[in-house]
Amino acid sequence: IISVANLKKEFDGLGVLKGISFTLNKGEVLSIIGPSGSGKSTLLRCLTQLEPIDGGTIEVCSKTMVRTTEEGKVSYANKETLKEVRLNLGLVFQSFNLFPHMSVLRNITEAQMHVLGRSKEEANQVGRSLLAKMGLEEKEKAYPCQLSGGQQQRVSIARALALNPDVLCFDEPTSALDPELTGEILKVIKDLAKEKMTMIVVTHEMSFARDISDRVIFMDDGLIVEEGTPQQLFNDPTNPRTKRFLNRYE
Ligand code: ATP
Ligand code: MG
Repeated sequence: IISVANLKKEFDGLGVLKGISFTLNKGEVLSIIGPSGSGKSTLLRCLTQLEPIDGGTIEVCSKTMVRTTEEGKVSYANKETLKEVRLNLGLVFQSFNLFPHMSVLRNITEAQMHVLGRSKEEANQVGRSLLAKMGLEEKEKAYPCQLSGGQQQRVSIARALALNPDVLCFDEPTSALDPELTGEILKVIKDLAKEKMTMIVVTHEMSFARDISDRVIFMDDGLIVEEGTPQQLFNDPTNPRTKRFLNRYE
């Protein structure tokens, strides 16, 4: 469902992604782990078109979002294709990014109406059913500041799901939360994995990654150093850098 080849990204002439290649199949959960600064967030931002890339190819749902010609020229698809691809990918941030001046329900309905052109009634119906799924049905009229961090993050997951993405991407969804609130978000993601939602999860929660992933990627310094099943990567890492990184979490 996603295919990335030789993806490169620089900031101020410094390589941050130095040739990343991976594929993601429908229904799979892929976790990305790695030290701070290794390029995990940048990778998600390149996939979701929040950052332009400097080289490589990205295909999403059999559509080429961007490719690089033999002369090294980066060539993005046309606007319509880019919009389509962007809708295929949902992104949930570490810091929730809810609209503070809108009620919980409106946070979830706004993009449905403006991006998908749904009627208010339909958007409300979808929004309410997702709030119920997140255990927040009594909170639809509340404002984000009246919710706990865990509740805010569940609203932002509902908001992403409301647009029916084919793939949901999470960038450290629990790292802004107090430890006692982390579990409720991990459970929501686990439930989505059970429903066979295709997901990419950047996380520092190693036992969680081991639990939910079909595959795990370890990134260091802009490269994929090791990739494998959770079994392989956590129990029997082959690369010394992976070993060193995992030792810190024991
Ligand atoms: P963390 O685990 O701390 O979230 P990360 O793996 O997500 O780290 P990135 O945020 O992708 O790392 O950053 C990778 C590198 O790119 C870092 O060295 C960072 O300083 C640099 N970088 C990221 N965004 C920008 C930017 N907008 N301008 C300049 N440099 C940037
Ligand atoms: Mg990051």
